Amino acid sequence: MPSFTFAPSDMTRADAPWARRLAAETEGELMLDTASRGRYATDASIYQVMPAAVFVPRSDRDVAVALEIAREHAVPVLARGAGTSQCGQTTGAGLVIDTTKHLREVTGIDVDAMTATVEPGLVLDHLNARLKRHGLWFPVDVSTSAQATIGGMAGNNSCGSRSIRYGNMVHNVVGIRARLADGGELDFGPVAAATGRAAAVAGFVRDLAATHRSEIVAHWPKVLRRVGGYNLDLFDPQSERPYTSDGSVNLAHLLVGAEGTLAWSRQLTLKLAPLPAAKVLGVVNFPTFRGAMAAAQHIVTLGPTAVELVDRTMIELALANPAFAPTMAAALIGAPAAILLVEFAGESKAGLVEKLVNLVELMADLGQPGSVVEMAAEAPQKALWEVRKAGLNIMMSLKGDGKPVSFIEDCAVPLEHLADYTDALTEVFARHGTRGTWYAHASVGTLHVRPILDMRRGGAAKMRAIAEEASALVRKYKGAYSGEHGDGLCRGEWIVWQFGPAIDAAFRAIKRELDPANLFSPGRIVDPPKMDDGALFRFPPAGAPAPYRTIALLPVLDWSAWNVQNDPLTETVMSPGSGGDSTGGFAKAAEMCNNNGHCRKFDAGTMCPSFRVTRDEQHSTRGRANTLRLALSGQLGEGAFTGDAMREAMDLCVSCKGCRRECPTGVDMARMKIEFLAHDKQRHGWTLKDRLIAALPDYGHALARIAPLANLRRPNGWLAHFGERVLGIAASRSLPRWRAETFWRTRDESLFASAEETLAAARAGGKAALLFVDTFNGLFESENAHAAAHVLHAAGYAVHTLARARGHHCCGRTALASGRVGEARARVAGLIDALLPFAEAGVAVVGLEPSCLLTLRDEALAMHLGEKAVTVSKQALLFEEFVAREAKAGRFDIAFTPVNAPILVHGHCHQKAFGATGVILDVLRLLPGAKPELIESSCCGMAGSFGYEASHHAVSMQMAEASLLPAVRAAPGAIVVADGTSCRHQIADGAGREAIHVARLLARALPAR
Ligand SMILES: Cc1cc2nc3c(=O)[nH]c(=O)nc-3n(C[C@H](O)[C@H](O)[C@H](O)COP(=O)(O)OP(=O)(O)OC[C@H]3O[C@@H](n4cnc5c(N)ncnc54)[C@H](O)[C@@H]3O)c2cc1C
Ligand code: SF4
Ligand code: SF4
Repeated sequence: MPSFTFAPSDMTRADAPWARRLAAETEGELMLDTASRGRYATDASIYQVMPAAVFVPRSDRDVAVALEIAREHAVPVLARGAGTSQCGQTTGAGLVIDTTKHLREVTGIDVDAMTATVEPGLVLDHLNARLKRHGLWFPVDVSTSAQATIGGMAGNNSCGSRSIRYGNMVHNVVGIRARLADGGELDFGPVAAATGRAAAVAGFVRDLAATHRSEIVAHWPKVLRRVGGYNLDLFDPQSERPYTSDGSVNLAHLLVGAEGTLAWSRQLTLKLAPLPAAKVLGVVNFPTFRGAMAAAQHIVTLGPTAVELVDRTMIELALANPAFAPTMAAALIGAPAAILLVEFAGESKAGLVEKLVNLVELMADLGQPGSVVEMAAEAPQKALWEVRKAGLNIMMSLKGDGKPVSFIEDCAVPLEHLADYTDALTEVFARHGTRGTWYAHASVGTLHVRPILDMRRGGAAKMRAIAEEASALVRKYKGAYSGEHGDGLCRGEWIVWQFGPAIDAAFRAIKRELDPANLFSPGRIVDPPKMDDGALFRFPPAGAPAPYRTIALLPVLDWSAWNVQNDPLTETVMSPGSGGDSTGGFAKAAEMCNNNGHCRKFDAGTMCPSFRVTRDEQHSTRGRANTLRLALSGQLGEGAFTGDAMREAMDLCVSCKGCRRECPTGVDMARMKIEFLAHDKQRHGWTLKDRLIAALPDYGHALARIAPLANLRRPNGWLAHFGERVLGIAASRSLPRWRAETFWRTRDESLFASAEETLAAARAGGKAALLFVDTFNGLFESENAHAAAHVLHAAGYAVHTLARARGHHCCGRTALASGRVGEARARVAGLIDALLPFAEAGVAVVGLEPSCLLTLRDEALAMHLGEKAVTVSKQALLFEEFVAREAKAGRFDIAFTPVNAPILVHGHCHQKAFGATGVILDVLRLLPGAKPELIESSCCGMAGSFGYEASHHAVSMQMAEASLLPAVRAAPGAIVVADGTSCRHQIADGAGREAIHVARLLARALPAR
């Protein structure tokens, strides 16, 4: 059998016969360029292997043709779902076939039989959304449920938090219709019903297993969580839990956990479970970590659906975060070293409350009376599960080259040894100068722990040493070395260690039987490479054939916070700028993406609108971060950072900042795009449109004076078409209307106080505010600024606003959007200078347009403007943030008139990125009778100038149609509140409805004077 080979570079040529055939004979998308391949060279592991090509099939027929071509031209194939594998399962030198874009149908749901049949690219959450109406779910609830595909879950034999109740994938897959390496198709299902080739394969495996019976019994880990190797034990399961409930044998289980090495799964039939009607949670507090580990074996006897560990480090992280602190505090008794989240699920709450009583009694029996916080209500349970998830995310966001590394992160040991195992492993880490944070599935003896290692400097040697010692412990305690995430590249070599040479040979025989030509995923499970082969690393160390290094680049923004290293023992991060990054920290910021794939989600939140509508890896945050990393490390060739591939990857990023908040490791692509644009435009030049957008705050006042002339352009009129040709502004778009009555020319002076009066009021502890009126609200929608002034004045504030002899103070947003960072810096510096005396006196700087005001809290801090920028940022508040804060402090006592209409609120992306949407609802609730509802929407799609551009118009509308516009249309009588000027414009353009700023609604409800 051929051994694993690194990417043969001559394979990847557009004129290679197999590539020509693929392009000609299928309808799928074939990607041969280095950037596209590079984006598929990594998954959530430490590895990187360049594929020969990437293929996104449109149909199952495309897959069949692609497999045929691959077979005939000896091109290995790697099946890929979301690519969230942690061990390198989806990184390889062959043809990567991505199932996620088109192969995602639910082909059948049989409610009576409680089964569903699906295509491999279907995402778990999407399946469960479809099943909900039937009161069913697919209960293998992996943490990556929002992006993990059923094909990938089966490939890895994935396991959810509730596996103690429902089992792993192998316990829940009842059939796989597969394509074989020889071109045949086979239904892998119940062996009793198998005929023909299926019966022959079953017979082959049965004989093989019988031959190796004694070896299987001797070497097979007897734990639920064993996912290494092939399921050669399917005729005589060695798992704590039989693979089928009736003792029958199912050949599909041979493919589950095979990591795509035996066949292509084209349809999977799954066993469903009733959705539990009720859940309760008991949080057990432990004074020692060991105590928690020792108690798990007793707690599982109560029949919980989950027992999840949260250790002290994670507790502290949660307590340090204002958003999570109350939830975590509510779960704690004193200062525990660890907590176990013990969940019970069932038909009725009453029955489950009984379970909580049992838990309390058990803990008392174990010498820990009064250690359980009981949570019977849904809301606190949900909040605590969220905290657990977020705690992990914060842990993964450690800056510096040392990162928590997955390689022994899912060893599973029998529960009675859990405490000894974790103690011993902690000592191992200490011996190697590192430590691990523990979390996850105490119920089944699988504890995720990742020591912090620097894979660029000595990490490989430490990884080997720790793996050797950890494996000895796993053997001592009769556990499974591979207990959840699979073998891939990091645990493949441990298969022979775990199962012995005879079973390893049997695995080879299975591979030979089903895939003699080694077509599917070579080098996985059979003939794996060494886990510490530096050539396979994403960051190859010195001494590897091509060590990782970054290009020299002088960034325009300040990235020094990322230019750091860390201490693996204490996780202390060194001082900013000391990390030795040749790009000043910019590359390290991009390298923060660990490929976990969270940005491929479609559920609540914003991230990532361009992926949501295109489903293209290139247009996900991960795709962009990977393109940046590859370009900045010279892997895309010279000048790639400002080349076409980079530009294409950035093109659909709407700078919504969704990733800034929602990416677990804090990848802030909106800021990265500014850095990219600055260099790209510097090299290739600014277009007329760029210059016009950037200079809007300057010429806007002049155009306002000749508003009737400036407004001559009509959508689809000749001027609009001319504008599309010359400037690239979509002819079909309406543009904001110019008006002579700008805020600065029409403001009601009686509402405003002088600078001196405002400062004096603030210094005397009185009510004072500075209303910052931005370009958009000042020039085009002055009614918003007037409304805000009215409301603040009515509430008794001394309100000041900035004035200039010519023009107005601007935050630089339009210049930033055009990559003119120097110009933006000059503008925002002027604004900050003007605001500084007020900020120093503690006067809140109140803004209306989220993207403008929040520039002061975000980009302005990265423009080398020093302490004064920090001072101003601390006082910068959105109008609604200010009103909510003051109302909470009892300083905003207006008797508003009631509102009777329903209110729908669309949050601007930047509001969402700063967690400022909830306060809009709080403020609206100040109006008697108001019951505001938030539209569950991502980006509106307009995103500054993005949606106006002809090249982006279609994508912009798709983003809007994803949820925002349908929600607006569905509520014809509702008042629509949207604080972003571009959001309001998009709603007007797309739904023909007027949306208003929250300040206007408040002003309308002011009592008559
Ligand atoms: C933050 C994080 C949390 C995680 N939590 C969990 C967890 O709770 N439980 C858990 O078990 N795992 C977890 N994982 C690992 C991973 O998310 C799961 O294994 C997931 O099921 C993989 O799904 P995917 O679509 O990303 O598959 P991929 O990574 O794309 O593929 C997985 C394997 O399946 C194969 N495959 C894919 N499609 C096919 C097909 N059509 N035919 C044949 N083979 C195919 C691939 O070749 C590969 O070997 C986690 C990962 C991360 C990054
Ligand atoms: S960009 Fe963030 S969310 Fe997306 S894969 Fe990378 S780390 Fe995960
Ligand atoms: S800023 Fe928005 S569009 Fe751009 S990568 Fe982040 S989430 Fe996606």
